[in-house]
Amino acid sequence: MSHIHKLRCRCGQLRGDIRLTGLRNRCVCYCTDCQAFPRHLRAPDVLDSRGGTDIVQVPPSNLSFTQGVEKLACLRLSPKGLLRWYSTCCKTPIGNTPADWRISFVGLIHVCLRGEDSNLDASFGPVSMRVGVKAALGDDKPVASGLITGVAKAVALIARGRVGGRYRANPFFEPDSGLPITSPTVLSASERASARNAA
Ligand SMILES: [Zn+2]
Ligand SMILES: [Zn+2]
Repeated sequence: MSHIHKLRCRCGQLRGDIRLTGLRNRCVCYCTDCQAFPRHLRAPDVLDSRGGTDIVQVPPSNLSFTQGVEKLACLRLSPKGLLRWYSTCCKTPIGNTPADWRISFVGLIHVCLRGEDSNLDASFGPVSMRVGVKAALGDDKPVASGLITGVAKAVALIARGRVGGRYRANPFFEPDSGLPITSPTVLSASERASARNAA
C-alpha cells in the first residue's frame, strides 16, 4: 500500500499529497451546513441519496498541496461557521477546517480524494461514524453511530497538533500569522437560506 493518497480537484489544477498515518477518522455528516456547502457550489456529486457527505479527518500537517494552491478559496456559511475550502477552477469542495488553526484538523471531502487509483477504504478505512442524522433526507433516518470513538479520534488529532506547535504546519493557514491563506467569503443571509433550502 502506498503511504501517500493523492488529492485533486475535478479538473486537476489543484493537487496535493496526504501522508497516511494512523491518525484518521472517516465519517458521514448529514448536517444542514454540510448539505448547504455543496449545494451553494452546485456540486451535486458530493451528497449521497440522504444528503450525507463522506468526510475524512486527518491532521492538516499530513497534507501538502503540490500544485495550484492559488486555486484555493474558502467560504463560511455564517460569520462563525467553519472555513469551507474549495477550488475556484472547477468548484470542487476540498475540506473543512476550524477558523482557529490551533484546533488542528481538516475534514477532507470525498470528491477530491477519488482521483486516479484512489481507494478510500484502503487509505482511510471504512466509514466509522455517522453524525447530523436528524437533518438527513427522507423519513428513514440513518442511525447515528461511532460518536464516542469518533470524538476520541478527533481529540487525539487536535492534541497531536498541540505538541510542539505542530498546528503551525497547516497548508490552509499562513505559518506566521495563523490567518487563512485567502480571506473567507461569508455568505449573505439570502445566499445561506437558498443553499439550505435547495434540497
Ligand atoms: Zn479544478
Ligand atoms: Zn456537517
